[in-house]
Amino acid sequence: MLNALTVDFEDWMQAHIDPDRPITPRVVDNVRRVLALLDEYQVKATFFVLGKVGDVYPDLVREVDRAGHEIASHGWGHRLVWQQTPEQFRADLRRSIEQIVALTGHRPLGYRAPAFSITKRSLWAGPVLADEGFRYSSSIFPIRKRRYGIPEAPRFPYRWEDCDLVEFPLTTARVFGRNIPVCGGGYMRLFPYAVLRRALHTVNRAGQPAVVYFHPYELDVSEVRVLQNQGYPIGRRVAFMKSLWRSRIEGRLRAALGEFQFAPMAQVLELSRKWQLSATA
Ligand SMILES: [Zn+2]
Repeated sequence: MLNALTVDFEDWMQAHIDPDRPITPRVVDNVRRVLALLDEYQVKATFFVLGKVGDVYPDLVREVDRAGHEIASHGWGHRLVWQQTPEQFRADLRRSIEQIVALTGHRPLGYRAPAFSITKRSLWAGPVLADEGFRYSSSIFPIRKRRYGIPEAPRFPYRWEDCDLVEFPLTTARVFGRNIPVCGGGYMRLFPYAVLRRALHTVNRAGQPAVVYFHPYELDVSEVRVLQNQGYPIGRRVAFMKSLWRSRIEGRLRAALGEFQFAPMAQVLELSRKWQLSATA
């Protein structure tokens, strides 16, 4: 069973502090670290690139593309979808699409909303994505969170009702009748590997693909401390929460890469046969 491996190709501060913070050069080393790790396991992934990062580091996007990974869109400015009007959202998407076409020569098939911000208040985003040529979205988390999530949304890939778009929801585990996020980001840092492992096996045994997601900066253990030392104002609580257990994620990724089969999302959804799976795990 093929699972989707996805990387939110962004820098840390714009996603967690303020979208207007400058892109730091750390993103270059962090993305290269991810490329080296995936190369080691001969796995191709989907990179949802943030337009602002591609603007500052266009060669880095080309490098990921040339390495054979899928380049998809994370939008341009990391503004939450439900904080935008449909017109602003469309403009943000178009900027991102134009950049990806310019850098890679092809239009992105997939989109992931910043901070999973397609929620009940922003379901208008689906038809806009389909209208702009996207074939899939991986933006809806079927959980209940203050800023994101649609708890009753389907847990496995499905077709949007009102447009020609496939949604690949973020993978959850079912625990006492509730959906629990365990397959990426902070959740993957928090829970031991056994939790991720069990979730992936359970989903695959049900005949469904899972999606694992992470961010290049999560492999950058000292980033938050270094940025604080460089004088960036980062609150103590944010610094603590967002750097917590970054040291653990690489080991967990390695374990998952060694045990499960992964491919770019477009391949898992059979929207493209461009990506050949070469992993033997
Ligand atoms: Zn993001």
